[in-house]
Amino acid sequence: MERFSSRKKEYLPTHFYNIKADLAELPRPPLHPATGEPLDPAALEAIFPKGFIEQEISQERFIPIPAAVLEAYAQYRPTPLVYAAELRKRLDTPARIFYKYEGVSPMGSHKGNTALMQAYLAAQEGVRELVSETGAGQWGSALAYAGERFGVAVRVFMVRASYRQKPGRRTMMALVRARVEESPGPNTEAGKALFLENPDHPGSLGIAIAEAVETVLKDPGSKYALGSVLDAVLLHQTVIGQEADQQLAGLGVEPDIVIGCVGGGSNFAGISFPFVRKNLTAGKQFRFIAVEPVSCPSITRGDLRYDHGDSAGLTPLLYMHTLGKDFVPPAIHAGGLRYHGMAPLVSHLVGNGMVQARSYDQDQVFSAAQAFFASEGILPAPESAHAVAAVIEEALKARDGKGEPVILFNLSGHGHFDMHAYEQNGR
Ligand SMILES: *Cc1c(COP(=O)(O)O)cnc(C)c1O
Repeated sequence: MERFSSRKKEYLPTHFYNIKADLAELPRPPLHPATGEPLDPAALEAIFPKGFIEQEISQERFIPIPAAVLEAYAQYRPTPLVYAAELRKRLDTPARIFYKYEGVSPMGSHKGNTALMQAYLAAQEGVRELVSETGAGQWGSALAYAGERFGVAVRVFMVRASYRQKPGRRTMMALVRARVEESPGPNTEAGKALFLENPDHPGSLGIAIAEAVETVLKDPGSKYALGSVLDAVLLHQTVIGQEADQQLAGLGVEPDIVIGCVGGGSNFAGISFPFVRKNLTAGKQFRFIAVEPVSCPSITRGDLRYDHGDSAGLTPLLYMHTLGKDFVPPAIHAGGLRYHGMAPLVSHLVGNGMVQARSYDQDQVFSAAQAFFASEGILPAPESAHAVAAVIEEALKARDGKGEPVILFNLSGHGHFDMHAYEQNGR
């Protein structure tokens, strides 16, 4: 088998795939945080661009990707589908392992897929500035790049701990003219008190979200952007799975198992939903595994119930697996997986048994990252290494079985800004 499958232009999909069109039963709707009644989508217009809200509530199966966004995607898409021959040798497994490598995007992770679409929609509506938060820095940098591309200013509240630990991410954002500030900071009500009390406050994603949302509510020329969790974000990421499907078909192969890591659920949805569709509509029986850290176990240990998306309780109530909005995950290295909740669509599929949930601890994850780097030559983001850990477990199990099962997983990003994490792990 060739190491790289074809990256033919025709493999770049022209539409996003909306799984809601194929679900027998839809997830429960978001509720208004104050009234507890189903949310009127118009209430979101203070925060999100209208075009984004339309996609969030759409039940159309296929939603066209605008030409300008396709052009932006074409700079790095189709991303490579790689046959992991060296990992297979190292594991001495009959399993055939393939990974979709999203680290080739301009900012190094899958987040660009939705950032570009969100910046485009904002530009269409004359939004002057997109405001958001970033924890580990991948989302902030993807949005900064996308804003530069579509002529929308970007302002990012970056959790202070990462701001100081990952100066490279901050510099990348500045290079594309984004305004980046440490959170909590003095420029918002949500940040000010905490900042004055302790100018070195490490911050949290919840505080940074509150700062970003407050900023948007005060400035009518700005809108908010979110990098995961919402239906529309998952929708944008389906370019990953649609490409993988075509690339595998080009090799005459179908996956037996599809694997992705989950923080808010968007890259997992991206690689898996186009294949879930075949289980729902074409009688296939692919298996799906969503992988999270033992220390932030939303889908393996959380409850499926209504909860706020942020710790301040400002966002609508979402029906999802949650550890509770006040859960403070330990400072694990995979910053992108430190989220108390889960995308409602992913929770729905875990709840009805279509998707299996699994968790690994940090040692297992770093060993997996090391094995992957040593064999395939790509250092995974610590987030993506969670998926690798599950791939390795499944590949080793395949030694006892029959045949050569096909494992497909999403390598959501590279770990070139995560040396601090790898160093601390002593490897
Ligand atoms: C943000 C991030 C994740 C987690 O977010 P999802 O929405 O669950 O995909 C995973 N991997 C990388 C590289 C990320 O940047």
